[in-house]
Amino acid sequence: MSPSAPVGGRPWLLYALLGASLAMNLVMAIRWPRARLEVDAAVEAPPAPPAATDPGVDEPPPEEVAATVSPAPDAALAASGFRAVQGVVHENLSRTFQEALGDAGPAISAVFSRLFVWDLDVRTDLMKGDTLAALYAVSDSGEIDMPLAILHSQKLGKDLKACRFQAPGDAYASWWYPDGTEVPFRLQDGPIDDYIQITETLVDRKRHKGWDFKTPVGTPVKTPRAGKVVRENWSFRGNGNCLDIRFDDGTNAYFLHLSENLVKPGDRVAAGQVVAKSGNTGRSTAPHLHYQLVRGERVIDPGDYHGTLRRHLDPSTMPAFQAETARLDALLEAALALPPALPQTETSAPG
Ligand SMILES: [Zn+2]
Repeated sequence: MSPSAPVGGRPWLLYALLGASLAMNLVMAIRWPRARLEVDAAVEAPPAPPAATDPGVDEPPPEEVAATVSPAPDAALAASGFRAVQGVVHENLSRTFQEALGDAGPAISAVFSRLFVWDLDVRTDLMKGDTLAALYAVSDSGEIDMPLAILHSQKLGKDLKACRFQAPGDAYASWWYPDGTEVPFRLQDGPIDDYIQITETLVDRKRHKGWDFKTPVGTPVKTPRAGKVVRENWSFRGNGNCLDIRFDDGTNAYFLHLSENLVKPGDRVAAGQVVAKSGNTGRSTAPHLHYQLVRGERVIDPGDYHGTLRRHLDPSTMPAFQAETARLDALLEAALALPPALPQTETSAPG
């Protein structure tokens, strides 16, 4: 643009018009995708209110669901990255998942069976003809995310349906049955309040002698009972930073893979005192706390020693939980309607 062009003449008008048109295009380009997202969100929203206003009704009229809900889950599904798997058990769980998903099957099977370990032993309690379905995603690092899992168990004579939901006040989401009962057990007065999941107990492997709590590095670890710190950091290669606390009743508690010990051998500790921070030291593949109880040579199951409990969602929380369940149900339905993906053998570098 030459500075000598007469201001106020026709060229000015032309530039102004061109500029305005360009600006309009830019505005359209920027706003259009947002507008589309807003439409999707608006379409997705309606399933919630019926659950909120009428929690007792489980099955809305099918034609209404088809008319109002079906377009949204497709878009929501694509955005979520979730996939679905379903199968019929005729040998064992791992095989069922392998048939459906190829090489990825066993790892996804393990995540699925972990959810239901509290109510049945998938190695012995599954029956030929049991059916399963799950919504899952696999992250780039290979971590499996499974917000919804359903198992029709003939032995129990019912569907076990685990739906992930973060209860108000909880640090992490957990899994819940449709009636608001928490799927995993909790230890009464356990060593850790905030954790993502109990990933191993004594039933998982014969040689595993404690309970593992998956939790980020740095989570406060408490001694559940009063006692005295006996030793720290023995067998460092395997246990990493660790503490051995002898409770006053003669039971020894081992806390392994810690990032930091906050007490020293000889210290007296009070029940509930924070004694360490969780970590990922020693032979540990992911951040977690290993909590083990022994008396003499005998390994004690923390579930037996502490007692376990199952929480229930507060009635005031049920509408939000049911809305989340409906959202995941719709995603699962949409994902199952897609043509089945061929099992892919992903050759990713180990690490
Ligand atoms: Zn462990």
